[in-house]
Amino acid sequence: MSGPNSDYDPVEVTPLKAEEVDAMREAALAAIATAPDLDALKHARTEHAGDRSPLALANREIGALPPQARKEAGMRIGQARSAVNQALAARQEVLEAEHEERMLVEETVDVTLPWDRTPVGARHPLTTLSERIGDVFVGMGWEVAEGPVVEAEWLNFDALNLGPDHPARTMQDTFWMEPADNAIVLRTHTSPVQARTMLTREPPIYVVCPGRVFRTDEFDATHSPVFHQVEGLVIDEGITMAHLKGTLDHFAASMFGDGITTRFRPSYFPFTEPSAEVDLRCFVCRGQEPAVQSCRTCRGEGWIEWGGCGVVNPRVLVACGVDPDRYTGFAFGMGIDRTLMFRHGAEDMRDMFEGDVRFTTAFGSEI
Ligand SMILES: [Zn+2]
Repeated sequence: MSGPNSDYDPVEVTPLKAEEVDAMREAALAAIATAPDLDALKHARTEHAGDRSPLALANREIGALPPQARKEAGMRIGQARSAVNQALAARQEVLEAEHEERMLVEETVDVTLPWDRTPVGARHPLTTLSERIGDVFVGMGWEVAEGPVVEAEWLNFDALNLGPDHPARTMQDTFWMEPADNAIVLRTHTSPVQARTMLTREPPIYVVCPGRVFRTDEFDATHSPVFHQVEGLVIDEGITMAHLKGTLDHFAASMFGDGITTRFRPSYFPFTEPSAEVDLRCFVCRGQEPAVQSCRTCRGEGWIEWGGCGVVNPRVLVACGVDPDRYTGFAFGMGIDRTLMFRHGAEDMRDMFEGDVRFTTAFGSEI
């Protein structure tokens, strides 16, 4: 061993003591061994093998040692740094392999997943039925007319001979828009579309008007505050009730099959005179004995209520600017929801409005 040296500074060279270097080396190896991922290993590399790491700083101190101590210290530090670098390289390899393996798993595309099972939506059966009804009439040369659902009271009632004292104008049936003195309603039937058509066009008029209507009804299996109607209107010279009957028979057969006809029962509507209820020949039992006796669809009647109709009241023609001496016409209306229930055996009206896609998809898409 050499003796004391004037260049030897015991404070500066403390990091070069064997136990200190061993401690640095152990701390570095421990940090490397426990680095859980590549980022942590990068941090450990900077901490324990970087320019400012304890071993690098210690290495710089070698020059301050007395010459006889330099070799031993240099070897000790050199071995420690070499061990740390080897450990870094080995850990790097392990972590890279792990990373690659994880990426392969995480980024795997499962090519066996079914690609053709995306649920295909379906149009709502009320929409398809409305269009089908429109097609029946377009096929006869009619036009489909539409109008606003928020409607003037005059068009919804007065123009159709529904006087101010008519029960349908009371608050129980009608949704009134605020403020009430604006005389605006949610239309209670599609008839204002007929009034609008007569007011804006010259006869001959052949239109069918499907659409939403609103009444303050309860929401239950057979009622809804919003429902759908289809109305038809013809204004031409020489139009009679016979034309109306023939039209509705054709409509009934188009909806429910050949041989399904209609019958009229006397009735009253303010906008038609004469007026009739329209019944549909039961399409299940066709009114034939003995099936009709036990038929649940028509409850043994052989006929099913379908809608209302009549010859357009001349007062309505006058209100809408049509010459009643030259022109006559007929009108009819029925519920689309009710027609859908008949056609498809849907028993609860709420199913049509609650938006459950299982109801809609059961009908599929009609083309
Ligand atoms: Zn029947």
